[in-house]
Amino acid sequence: MTQVEQAPLQALENRAEVVVDLDAIAANTAVLRERVARPLMAVVKADGYGHGLLPAARAVLAGGADALGVAVLEEALALRAAGITAPVLAWLNGPGEDVAAALAADVEVSVNAEWGLAEVVAVARRTRLTARVHLTADTGLSREGATSADWPGLVSAAARAETDGDVAVVGLWSHLAYADAPQHPTIGQQVRVFEEAVSLARAAGLTDARRHLANSAATLALPETWYDMVRPGVALYGLDPLGGDPADHGLLPAMTVQARVALTKRVPAGAGVSYGHTYHPAQETTLALVPIGYADGVPRAAGNRAPVLAAGRQRAIAGRVCMDQFVLDVGDDPIAPGDRVVLWGSGAAGEPTAQQWADAADTIHYELVTRVGGRFRRRYVGTAGVA
Ligand SMILES: *Cc1c(COP(=O)(O)O)cnc(C)c1O
Repeated sequence: MTQVEQAPLQALENRAEVVVDLDAIAANTAVLRERVARPLMAVVKADGYGHGLLPAARAVLAGGADALGVAVLEEALALRAAGITAPVLAWLNGPGEDVAAALAADVEVSVNAEWGLAEVVAVARRTRLTARVHLTADTGLSREGATSADWPGLVSAAARAETDGDVAVVGLWSHLAYADAPQHPTIGQQVRVFEEAVSLARAAGLTDARRHLANSAATLALPETWYDMVRPGVALYGLDPLGGDPADHGLLPAMTVQARVALTKRVPAGAGVSYGHTYHPAQETTLALVPIGYADGVPRAAGNRAPVLAAGRQRAIAGRVCMDQFVLDVGDDPIAPGDRVVLWGSGAAGEPTAQQWADAADTIHYELVTRVGGRFRRRYVGTAGVA
């Protein structure tokens, strides 16, 4: 397995910045690709999980990804507009999507229902293009996909459309509800339903389609779900979907979130800090003002809870997170305006991790990295995928 390089703290170049390590994304992709030894569709939806759609896409391709996966068509078209030619699947398609644009850009689309297939077939006929289609089975998540009741109708309609040359069914897939709890009984249940769905599709003549089921957690923990291709997202960015230490899987977190202290001051014991005075220092102390807040994706729930590295130690945010700023209590440790504080990063230099933040703010690291933005500047380090 590839050796994880422990990155030092990133230098600070902006008032508040999200530093993205492209080499970490490429290395994580290579680790997973090597682990599964089969095609890997790298999920770059939601602006590359907050790391930037295009840089993330180029980095995963540099790391050996075979295809890209996104939720909505606009994301796929943005990849094509930027000149990315790898196979791309957009899976979250409602009525009235611009299927013509998808076909013209050679974007693969998922179909959940016969009406969705009919829309794709109509456009394929009109444009004389063959649509590359993945059929989605709902195997128990009750989200995308056709239920077992609707699946036979969908596969026979798809088989007819394939015979007519309007579609090529290139994928059969589903999504797990509990992959992050690898012992959970629903996993075996979903696998059984998926395999029945695949058998029905194959019996109907859809024999060329790749089967794919595994998200990041399943890519790490459930080899029986790997089938013909895996579909990880969050692990590519170095976060452990199982809530553990990503280094245990050879993964390195790619995102560091940091800011420059705007102001420091001494205040007496008992001073009320931030809105609602929910924090009062026990002794005279130094407060440091950090110029980012909930408008920038720092969750308000992090107030009095989430850790920040400042003046050499992690300290919980003092009082409420405001729209544009929050406060740290650094005691008598030396700190000055302009000093760097780190919200989360790889953890290798003593800074908190996104997992620590998720636990503190009662959320998941997925939500933290995809929402951090606002007035943060995003800055890239590393060269993977950079032309
Ligand atoms: C987001 C998503 C993935 C990737 O999930 P991770 O947990 O980030 O690996 C895979 N498949 C589907 C359908 C998704 O919505």
